[in-house]
Amino acid sequence: MTKFTDIILPEPLLRAAADLNYETPTPIQAQVIPWLLENDADLIALAQTGTGKTAAFGFPVLSQTDIEKLVVQAIILCPTRELCLQIGHDLQSFSKYMPRIRSTVVYGGAPIYKQKEALQSGVHIVVGTPGRVNDFIRQGVLKLDTVNRLVLDEADEMLNMGFKEDLFEIMKHTPAQKQTLLFSATMPKEVAKLAQTFMTDPHQITAGNQNQGADNIQHYYYKVHARDKYKALKRIADMSPKIYGIIFCRTRNETQEIADKLQHDGYNADALHGDLSQGQRELVMSRFRSKYVQLLVATDVAARGLDVDDLTHIINYSAPTEPDIYIHRSGRTGRAGKSGISLTIIHSKEIAALKAMEKRLGREIIPAKVPGGREICEKQLFHFIDTVERIEVDNAQIDSFLPNVYKKLSWLSREELIQRFVSVEFNRFLNYYKDASDLDFGPEQASREEKKSFAFKTFKLSLGYAQNLTKRELMRYINQLKVTRSIEIGQIDIFPDFCLVELDAEYAEQLLKAFARHKYKGIPVNAALGEPARRNKRR
Ligand code: AMP
Repeated sequence: MTKFTDIILPEPLLRAAADLNYETPTPIQAQVIPWLLENDADLIALAQTGTGKTAAFGFPVLSQTDIEKLVVQAIILCPTRELCLQIGHDLQSFSKYMPRIRSTVVYGGAPIYKQKEALQSGVHIVVGTPGRVNDFIRQGVLKLDTVNRLVLDEADEMLNMGFKEDLFEIMKHTPAQKQTLLFSATMPKEVAKLAQTFMTDPHQITAGNQNQGADNIQHYYYKVHARDKYKALKRIADMSPKIYGIIFCRTRNETQEIADKLQHDGYNADALHGDLSQGQRELVMSRFRSKYVQLLVATDVAARGLDVDDLTHIINYSAPTEPDIYIHRSGRTGRAGKSGISLTIIHSKEIAALKAMEKRLGREIIPAKVPGGREICEKQLFHFIDTVERIEVDNAQIDSFLPNVYKKLSWLSREELIQRFVSVEFNRFLNYYKDASDLDFGPEQASREEKKSFAFKTFKLSLGYAQNLTKRELMRYINQLKVTRSIEIGQIDIFPDFCLVELDAEYAEQLLKAFARHKYKGIPVNAALGEPARRNKRR
């Protein structure tokens, strides 16, 4: 099948597909749509996000809806509010030439009464998150005994998010005679068990290789010292001036910290994590979608449901704890047939995690070299020159200023003029990368660095959670002591009323004096020295 119009769908749906520029079905659509149009058995479809799966189930569901019966005929369950809204929106677009089809979305975190009203006014299709769907069933507002098709979208994510009980409860309210469709990017044991419990002899369709990442994504990793991760991240971003990507971190603190640092260093970045209110999250997402923000630093949970098609990069600032998470993260690029790059920055202790990711992916994650200062400067310079060449000159606006500008610059030769213009934009990079060293943690660098090893000492400070201490705040406080230009900070452990922090042993005396002299947010700090900690290597 080469064209979307080859699929035997009702004309209004094909017309809507044409409006959306769906000319060729995606692989999952090419397999799933014709099968669903001819079969009423259960189906498991393994497909990454971004492969066009909404249309794969959306078109058949719409085409088989009986408009004359205003009862719930199909229920689509998905893990997040954002995905729910996206599917609801897609169904509206697909059914734009079928005005009598009524669908609605129900999800948590929003006032209940409007959603209730929509359900009570009568709908054919409901898209919902399991928690809210269950609430409406319990209230007697939503009845599923007329459902003949149930779709579980991103089933693995729904289970990851703890919706198992809700799913079991919802199933109980649906008729035994129905078609169940399960879409999942991965097939962990829990999903297989769910399928076993609720599906009868399901047919299975896989777009691409089962459990593997899409082929149009390139996978690379950088191995650096733990303390050089942020520098490596900046170099990666600097090497791709047009980067538009998500940087995944493990914790909310780390997410905020990296976004703050990037903003401080002049990058177009913002943070998305669970400590933000729903309103703040939506604002960040919309700024990212409109590309006002180029780099989104996010936790896995917060980024769920964020639906963006043209990401150039996924950057794993922290290696994911589970190989499945790697598949989900990297599947956010290379969507809708585009190509994408998935990068992972690891330190030496994360090699085992990397191997597990490779195994899961079924492909090698290729080692890459962190770009060097010269390489980055060259890339940025040519990007800038490219922009100068392509810029559209608005003569109407600037012509009147130019004679004075020409006069003022007339003492400069063409070459001198170019040098100055380039420097205006470019000095930031030249200065930053002037003495930039190699960040790769290869054997050669390891032995070079070995010679410069130094020791940490552990300091016990009278600050802990009781003083609202965070790692970030502690690092800021220690740096503000200005004992040396850049003090090495090692492991930090925070307890209710004290903390332990490893600091460069060479500055132990000065540090003790500085702690005694400088209060932390007005609180006097008692510092005591513990045993020498591990040895480490200097930057
Ligand atoms: P989904 O996996 O359903 O979230 O779809 C990912 C993106 O691909 C969405 O922006 C869709 O509009 C787009 N898309 C889906 N099917 C096609 C198609 N056949 N041709 C072009 N784009 C498509």
